[in-house]
Amino acid sequence: MLTIALPSSIPVQQVSAFYQADVSILRADTVHPAISGNKWFKLYYYLQQAIRLKKKGIVTFGGAWSNHIAATAAACAAAGLKCAGIIRGEEPVACSATLQQAKELGMQLQFVSRQDYKEKAAVDFNNEWLLVPEGGYGTDGMLGAAHILDYIPHYTHYCCAAGTGTTLAGMIHSAGEGQTITGISVLKNNHSLGQAVSSLWRQPPKAAWHISHDFHFGGYARYTKALTDFMNRFYTATGIPSDFVYTGKLFFAVLQLLQQGYFPAGSRIAILHSGGLQGNASLPKGVLTF
Ligand SMILES: *Cc1c(COP(=O)(O)O)cnc(C)c1O
Repeated sequence: MLTIALPSSIPVQQVSAFYQADVSILRADTVHPAISGNKWFKLYYYLQQAIRLKKKGIVTFGGAWSNHIAATAAACAAAGLKCAGIIRGEEPVACSATLQQAKELGMQLQFVSRQDYKEKAAVDFNNEWLLVPEGGYGTDGMLGAAHILDYIPHYTHYCCAAGTGTTLAGMIHSAGEGQTITGISVLKNNHSLGQAVSSLWRQPPKAAWHISHDFHFGGYARYTKALTDFMNRFYTATGIPSDFVYTGKLFFAVLQLLQQGYFPAGSRIAILHSGGLQGNASLPKGVLTF
């Protein structure tokens, strides 16, 4: 039996005073110290499948500060599955905090060159292992993420950060007519994201959806002082910590979109806090006040 189930409830925090609009945040960052935010949802069906098919464990992919690697290591430890991480780049002299923790949780790490990683060639694992694509991208990841809206139904607009787009696709999949889902892409000029999202469904969704490419702050895992200043200000005003790769950009984007009149009058907006706070450990000390 799977020892991790989906969370029984997730806190919803009103941030209407900060945004000067009807805005709430689903605090999925609080559900588990290591399997944070959207990652629990995206991994849920992969873990179930690994157990049902009696796989030895899970093999997946990521970079040195990957939230997906951190979450997979913790989720497999909780579910009693072995796991291995194929890590992009040469083995460093000192592992990142993320990889250190993944190792302590029992994840077997294998470092591959960026070229091999691209080709995903250096995989020694046979089909006794379940292969989970990078970021959990795939139908199972999407269907897991579709459960997120169960915790926060009845809003007119939902916003989330998008990397692979798996979470965004899941939220769109479970939303209904009259609801709009907006994904904030954290990669620069990733204009194939819309295709990546829509290829995860068999049927067109009932909800409206949209991707903004305007809030990447220079690209994936890039940041500016304007972003970190905003994150500090947001924390002071709301008590909500954000990460510089995904949710800081998301919370910033919602403020800008409101100021641009993107949301029609009377909108009730829900933002997914998809977690990822562990990645802030890669920042120089003192950049963030929390
Ligand atoms: C992984 C991650 C995302 C991106 O999710 P996708 O499903 O790949 O789009 C968003 N936010 C946080 C905090 C993440 O760790």
